[in-house]
Amino acid sequence: MDQTKYMLTEKEIPTAWYNVQADLPKPLPPLRHPGTTEPTILPPPLFPASLNEQEHSKERYIDIPEEIQQIYRLWRPTTLHRAHRLEKALGTPAKIFYKYEGESPAGSHKLNTAVAQAYYAKKAGAKRLATETGAGQWGSALSMGCCFMGLECKVYMVKVSYHQKPYRRVLMEVFGAKVVPSPSQDTNIGRKILGDDPNCSGSLGIAISEAVEDAATRDDTFYSLGSVLNHVLMHQTVIGLETKKQLEKADAYPDIIVGCIGGGSNFAGMFLPFVPDKLKGKKIQVIAVEPEACPSITKGPYTWDFGDVAGMAPIAKMHTLGHGFVPPPVHAGGLRYHGMAPIVSHLANLGLVEARAVNQTAIFRSAVEFAKAEGIIPAPEPAHAIKVVFDEAQKCKESGEKKTIVLALSGHGHFDLGAYDEYLSGKLQDYDYPKEMVAKALAQLPKVVEA
Ligand SMILES: *Cc1c(COP(=O)(O)O)cnc(C)c1O
Repeated sequence: MDQTKYMLTEKEIPTAWYNVQADLPKPLPPLRHPGTTEPTILPPPLFPASLNEQEHSKERYIDIPEEIQQIYRLWRPTTLHRAHRLEKALGTPAKIFYKYEGESPAGSHKLNTAVAQAYYAKKAGAKRLATETGAGQWGSALSMGCCFMGLECKVYMVKVSYHQKPYRRVLMEVFGAKVVPSPSQDTNIGRKILGDDPNCSGSLGIAISEAVEDAATRDDTFYSLGSVLNHVLMHQTVIGLETKKQLEKADAYPDIIVGCIGGGSNFAGMFLPFVPDKLKGKKIQVIAVEPEACPSITKGPYTWDFGDVAGMAPIAKMHTLGHGFVPPPVHAGGLRYHGMAPIVSHLANLGLVEARAVNQTAIFRSAVEFAKAEGIIPAPEPAHAIKVVFDEAQKCKESGEKKTIVLALSGHGHFDLGAYDEYLSGKLQDYDYPKEMVAKALAQLPKVVEA
């Protein structure tokens, strides 16, 4: 039988991130200022200059500092698996590979950028990072990143999750983070909201506003974002760069790459390193998978919108459902963002990425099949991608084609067993595409005049 796991040695961990901006056939539209709508950069008091440089860099490769490489060695390289048992269970002639980022101690790919962001904040003289977290995945990763770099970490955790997911909070606290339920008494905006409604259960939008206020009002603190931004996607390219080397060892090359998209970072981390090949004419089908309840690429226009709910963050050109759109509470909390990374949106607009939307019961059905075959319980987010891998494997079964399918398996679902419980007990519900709410939110887009 063929090999099952394709490993790399520590020496084969990439020493530079890949920056797709060097190879884009059309440059990325610049960010716009939320007030004036003029071209702008990331707000300097919130981000270190080094990350702003990366955000706009056209260098093809950016060296990964040795200190970051050393920390990456705690869990990288991650394994590329050949899913022999799954292929057999599906009866498909397709070859299925999956790159498993659940091997990271944070349980997901998010640690790849958390470590890098903590490093650059420290280099710029910061003592603290402030961030928001919904379900807790990003907060967990940043808590570890800050701990490894000797920084304090303040996490504003949406109040309902804070009470519903205490173990995520404890995990962050083990690594020394200060976690408060948002809205909190620690910021002006939090105090104001609690003054109006002491029982407010919070939202990601409120938590973002609190973290931004924290960073903006303190000299020793930067703000940190776990997805969407160009530099975050670039930090995630270690995933695809490793995968390329591992596929070489397997003597394979992808016909299809599949990943789930919330803000777009794990998917981009996997496929961006393949973009140069694709531009040279290699035929790779690149599929981004999103929830039907929050379908930013499949249903949202490619246009200008605020990055945040409050309309205070820079305006980006992206696929969006409108910044005021609050998606239904699907279990894949990491996929509930109104917009999409500008880079992923741009590449979709250029025809280099296609998108599919899937519903929540279908993804859990596939995730359970996947677990039974491969022994890994996937997070609900990558379960979206698994559903599409199943669909593509089925097409191969019907046509007899032996395609090579590569899946970005962004994290494990050990903190999401409540969602699996709902699925297994038949209580899980699907949400229809919230057409009217999206139409309402899209009526509130900012007006930007393109030169
Ligand atoms: C946060 C998260 C996502 C979604 O974020 P992206 O930036 O789109 O990758 C996907 N999978 C897991 C496991 C996550 O934690």
